[in-house]
Amino acid sequence: LEELMIRYEKMSDAGQLAAGIAHEIRNPLTSLKGFLQLLQAGVKGRDEYYKIMLEEIEKMEKITTELLFVSKPLTDHLKMEPVTEMIRDVVTLMSTQAKIKGIDISHIAEEEDASFIYCDRSQVKQVLLNLIKNSIEAMEEPGRIVVKTIKNTEEICIQVTDEGAGVPDELIHKLGEPFFTTKKGGTGLGLMITKKILERHNGKLSVKRNEEKGSTFMISFPTQEGI
Ligand code: ADP
Ligand code: MG
Repeated sequence: LEELMIRYEKMSDAGQLAAGIAHEIRNPLTSLKGFLQLLQAGVKGRDEYYKIMLEEIEKMEKITTELLFVSKPLTDHLKMEPVTEMIRDVVTLMSTQAKIKGIDISHIAEEEDASFIYCDRSQVKQVLLNLIKNSIEAMEEPGRIVVKTIKNTEEICIQVTDEGAGVPDELIHKLGEPFFTTKKGGTGLGLMITKKILERHNGKLSVKRNEEKGSTFMISFPTQEGI
């Protein structure tokens, strides 16, 4: 099984990110301007135009909301937080959305343990949410998502395994690049934010292809208070 570490370089390049943001916001703006001009000229088929305009506005809204999250500084909320509880919170939050697609999310802990991570709770939950959300979105058919915790002396590893479409080999190096998305209506910011949060926690992110189908995204955190 091939395991690929997701690249860390580039993400701190503020210039590149700014260019990306400008690009991602300008496209919907240009399209809004065009549609407004058409409406002003009194074209027919207004309902379709309104629908597209609303989609463009929603896209900009999503991008700015997600970017605000990245710009939040690492807070002083660093504490020893229970891993199982954080996972349970997010699984509960996402299970309704999953059920609608016939997807069952379960959590398996290697041992019934009380592992803790020295972290900002809301940020780690955001990471788990981003990964589980991607797994749900990657699955076209009903199936299972398994969240598994593995602990060894140096690190605590959390794996999110899905039965989705998987990531094509040629796209793996693009994961976590700002604005890289293959989804209609995607922002391509989820994994970038995930990497940023993990970097702040001395954590790691990697992905591997499952033998059967789908992929497994893995995150790991150091066990001691080593931040
Ligand atoms: P978004 O979800 O808005 O597209 P992300 O940064 O979360 O942005 O993900 C970027 C891309 O990585 C996705 O568009 C998808 O192509 C790919 N991806 C992420 N997670 C998975 C997954 N679990 N299975 C398949 N592809 C994935
Ligand atoms: Mg996503």
